[in-house]
Amino acid sequence: SESHTRREWNSSRSERLFERQKKLIPSGASSLMRTSSWDPYPLFIQRGKGSRIWDVDGNEYIDFLMAFGPLINGHSHPKINNAVKKQMRNGYLFGAPNELEYKLARMFMKFVPNQDRVIFALSGSDATFNAIRIARAATGKDVILKFEGHYHGLHDYAAISVESPPVVSGLRWFPRPLAYTAGIPSEVLDTVVVANWNDVESLERILKIRGNEIAAIIMEPIMANSSVILPDDDYLRAVRELADEYNILMIMDEVITGFRVSEGGAQKLYGVQPDLSTWAKALGNGLTISAISGKKEYMELIGNGVAYGGTYFASPIALAGALENLRLLAYNDFEPYRYLKRITRKMAKGIEEVADELDEDILVTWETGLLSFIFTKRKSVRNYRESIDSDWEKYKKLQRYMLRRGIYLHPDMFERIPLSTQHTEEDIDAFIMALRESLKEYR
Ligand code: PLP
Repeated sequence: SESHTRREWNSSRSERLFERQKKLIPSGASSLMRTSSWDPYPLFIQRGKGSRIWDVDGNEYIDFLMAFGPLINGHSHPKINNAVKKQMRNGYLFGAPNELEYKLARMFMKFVPNQDRVIFALSGSDATFNAIRIARAATGKDVILKFEGHYHGLHDYAAISVESPPVVSGLRWFPRPLAYTAGIPSEVLDTVVVANWNDVESLERILKIRGNEIAAIIMEPIMANSSVILPDDDYLRAVRELADEYNILMIMDEVITGFRVSEGGAQKLYGVQPDLSTWAKALGNGLTISAISGKKEYMELIGNGVAYGGTYFASPIALAGALENLRLLAYNDFEPYRYLKRITRKMAKGIEEVADELDEDILVTWETGLLSFIFTKRKSVRNYRESIDSDWEKYKKLQRYMLRRGIYLHPDMFERIPLSTQHTEEDIDAFIMALRESLKEYR
């Protein structure tokens, strides 16, 4: 039966479409993450339902990428579809406030009751960009502190030291800010300080030197863009205290963790309250919406000195979809999170058992609805520098073997696996079986 899970697999239509598309669209798709690491070409996905997707060659996969995180209730959920359809009949967008905005804000506060105010935007990048601006306005300071390997979008203040090879970035306790893209003015690099995450001592050292210039410390509360790295006990609390000591705002970027690791994000899980938070992905289940929330004194700067807005922010379509998405997640006192925790734990255990059985060096890390596994001899990974020091090629190769068994993963090992309420226990079993067979086959 083992060999029969290995399918005849053809992706020639994806290959042809990619060749064609590259001639009109630089790099072949409107987001580099969709094509990068896919050697030699990415698959073109035609449709999705629940935990499944189908590519243009008719291959079916269980999706373990879930659009990089948003799809907490899976693809094309019937209830969300209905909510969106209903709104579509009434129009897509008006240059006016809409009552759904209030309804979503109220629902948001049920999930994250420690927030005084919330405002919506379009993408995670919009949210982090505006949160940083609010922090600068609130403190009258210019400099932002971010951490190596943390990702907050591609705007100029965030696209720094996302990748940070130690040979170029230098000392661990005071890494040099590295532009992640060409085109960032050097003046911008002067307004960003980079630090090693999960390392209170080096943060203290940096703040002693530059604390008085720093407006905000922005971080992913669980580092989920360099595999999944959990914060050490009390690390978030220590950052909170240091931020207060230097009159710095703490921004938690919950774009991945929000509405996923618990109904109140990582801040609820760890019991640490930031000044400002940013939310996106699982808020909208794939509809384009993000949010900034936080303390009244900072949020009320919007409209009082801080400009804010966008034609597409809080479109009624996205509001309607997000509202239904949160309703589903709030069901029976947030029951879906208990389910997500159970299947994530099952998946983590399953991967560990396969690793043991086949004597593979695999490190699994997880929190509710969020998991990663990397090939490393380390027993734990605490920061970017420890995480990059693992076997990328092996993962990339594994990904190709998994595809042939109907398991869709991103070839980049740092792209975590987000689970959804539509993944079943059987989906997890299928993943584990495919992992065992793939590893056996290509060793
Ligand atoms: N912040 C975090 C933690 C993210 O993971 C991402 C995207 O992956 C962003 C911000 C940027 O969000 P978007 O791609 O919607 O602009």
